[in-house]
Amino acid sequence: MLRDERLVLIALGGNAFQSRGDRGTPEDYWRNAYVAARTIVRIVKEGYRVAVTHGNGPQVGIISEWMEALKERVPPQTLDIAGAMTQGWLGYLLVQAIHNTLIEEGVYDRVRGAVALVNRVAVREDDPAWANPTKFVGSWYTDEEEVRRLSRERGWTFKRDPRGGWRRVVPSPDPYRNVEVEAIKALLREGWIVIASGGGGIPVVERAGGRLEGAEAVIDKDLAGEVLATALGAGHFIILTDVDGAYLNFSREGSRRLGRVTVSELERYYSEGHFPPGSMGPKVLACIRFIKHGGLRAAIGHLYEGYEVVKGVRGTQVVPG
Ligand code: ADP
Ligand code: MG
Repeated sequence: MLRDERLVLIALGGNAFQSRGDRGTPEDYWRNAYVAARTIVRIVKEGYRVAVTHGNGPQVGIISEWMEALKERVPPQTLDIAGAMTQGWLGYLLVQAIHNTLIEEGVYDRVRGAVALVNRVAVREDDPAWANPTKFVGSWYTDEEEVRRLSRERGWTFKRDPRGGWRRVVPSPDPYRNVEVEAIKALLREGWIVIASGGGGIPVVERAGGRLEGAEAVIDKDLAGEVLATALGAGHFIILTDVDGAYLNFSREGSRRLGRVTVSELERYYSEGHFPPGSMGPKVLACIRFIKHGGLRAAIGHLYEGYEVVKGVRGTQVVPG
């Protein structure tokens, strides 16, 4: 598939909104949204068209806690609905911060501003992940009786959290299709900065006749970001997080940050187990898939160096070969 050298998909980590040490006040959220917005606008000023996706792990956790705390008064909602809520919450922060930054930077006339979508992502009914829930969501429980009751009443699965207590786990199926991709393409063509696939997208399963049904699952935002970047024909897929690249022997002796790396080298390191599931693993896997699907370049780097990562001078830069 033909790749657009001037189209970039940026994936922001959950930490882009609530960084370490933040209490998570609206002021914290706004401050962090403006940091991300300044990076995005700098890239736009370089002449790139930009689509943005973002994580939602901490925010889904917060919504689950609210639902849990208020369950006697307000019926709890399902996880797909919670995911949709985070797309509105974080999408709003980003579009507003981008709008105001475009004005500050004097480029508002060159782009139309930003728009955030409620965006669904399809997962397979026969994905093996349904039988093996792995992602922790929501509060910690210490009372085993309550854990048993919730399993019975709501059909939830619990696992012991390494940090203590019991926690609900949900499946994380592999995304394969962004449902709103044609709308995203149209908006990008018209000059909009598009926020899409937030939190990995709202998970939906396709049923007979093309009907869609929301699922009790969470999708990895890096893997869903790759699905979108590939479908858009983006030349570049850039993952911005809270570490300055992918490391070999991370936080061990002989730790080394990867600079420029070919996809075949990276696949070897991936199979050697350098990148754990749930954090760096899916980022590296998403980069590998993107290049194998025909992408020109994928990168992983620190949010604060986002512009340099896009320019190719910082972070781990993954190239064909
Ligand atoms: P995000 O919210 O951006 O998706 P994650 O917490 O999921 O971020 O993943 C980033 C984290 O991965 C880093 O903060 C780092 O602690 C951890 N990590 C684990 N293994 C590695 C590795 N091999 N190289 C770099 N970081 C790693
Ligand atoms: Mg993550």
